[in-house]
Amino acid sequence: MDNYDRASIPSLADCLGAADETRELLMGRGCYAEIPALLGRLYQPRGVFLVSDENTWKAAGAGLAEILNGAGIPVEGELRFPASPRLHAEYACISAIKEKFSALPRPAVPVAIGGGTVNDLVKRAAAELKQSYLCVPTASSVDGYTAYGAAILYEGYTQTMPCPAPLALAAEPEVLAKAPPYLSSSGFGDLASKIIAGADWIISDTAGPLGAPGAERIDEKVWNMTQPGLAGYLERSTDAARGDSGAVIALFEALAITGFSMQTFKGSRPVSGSEHLFSHVWEMDDLSVDGVPVTHGHKVSIGTLASAACYEIFFADPSGPPSPPGGYTRPSLPQRLDAVSAAFEGGRSRDLVVKTAGEKYMDDATVKRVREAVTDNYRELRDRVLARLPPYGKLKDMLGRALCPLKPETIGLSRTDAIATARRAQMIRNKYCLLDLVWDMGLMETVLARFEDSAEYLR
Ligand SMILES: [Zn+2]
Repeated sequence: MDNYDRASIPSLADCLGAADETRELLMGRGCYAEIPALLGRLYQPRGVFLVSDENTWKAAGAGLAEILNGAGIPVEGELRFPASPRLHAEYACISAIKEKFSALPRPAVPVAIGGGTVNDLVKRAAAELKQSYLCVPTASSVDGYTAYGAAILYEGYTQTMPCPAPLALAAEPEVLAKAPPYLSSSGFGDLASKIIAGADWIISDTAGPLGAPGAERIDEKVWNMTQPGLAGYLERSTDAARGDSGAVIALFEALAITGFSMQTFKGSRPVSGSEHLFSHVWEMDDLSVDGVPVTHGHKVSIGTLASAACYEIFFADPSGPPSPPGGYTRPSLPQRLDAVSAAFEGGRSRDLVVKTAGEKYMDDATVKRVREAVTDNYRELRDRVLARLPPYGKLKDMLGRALCPLKPETIGLSRTDAIATARRAQMIRNKYCLLDLVWDMGLMETVLARFEDSAEYLR
């Protein structure tokens, strides 16, 4: 057990109180009826601008519009994206929202009615329009509802674009419970990823004082918001995708808390680690199955299993990490930049990734310090990390019970390609995690070869 974990677990209300952008979260049966009063309390214009897609309009938008009409709140305009093809969080949709909003006859409060994609689109559009928005989530599918920033596909690259979290949210349990099962299992995958994010934060906390780029120290208050209560929340939300309303609510609450932790930390470190780097690469690759894009949370589920496998391989031996292959020499900066450039050949994001690779490349003295510190303190580090990670088989069982994908083939990838993604995942962000440590120790190929040979991992 980590020292931090001895603290009491903050409640949802405590976490909302710590967040500095979101002021209110309405939750509970019939809570849409409180939205007119909420609008009067927190927002400036009287009218609203409703953004949804055809599915989320049916699930929540139509009922909400009726309540607003009944309360005399004018609906100044509405934008309903088609249900098919499935909406993408791409910048063109933000432009469409802004265009429609700017043509409204009177000022209005943007209202995002939908899942993570609609919310991210409205969040960024509202920020560019300098408006506060209201979020009405229709599924427990992502942690992004209450988070600072939006994941938007821009110039071929999924980027976290800065923008404030919603000023308020209204989550109706009946709507969340009726969401399609694949959305709730996606949310569960996104929640399970916090297991890896916690382990990666320990790695980052270890490398940070030694000067490793992108290595953030553990912030105890934020850590306590997400880590000590995580196992309990995962347990209570396992049946969310089976439509169990209690489980769906527990899942929403846990995801909301992780979003509040990002607001408090002003970054994604508390809730996103190597597993999200895998998923970001697959987002850049537009991963889809039979033309349908794979959800964020399902990519994250496979990323979580892949990262857990890398952890077990790296820390397999209680006496020390694996040794680099004989004759290994660390690539020089120009060699490294060439390799990164080749790995993203033909991709629109290549220049950005090469720039990041340059920023995160460590000088020889720092690498030496990190390697020595990890080797010298290996047992303690191993204990701390393994205390956070359930054994791979248990993690897989839990994701399976929650109806998350367990094999790369389910999300349209071969096992070999999924494993090979680790190389590119390590290149794309300057945010120190296990993949960086593995690379800095000269062990990437050793770990991936053992991963490939394993009869258990990603099978
Ligand atoms: Zn996520």
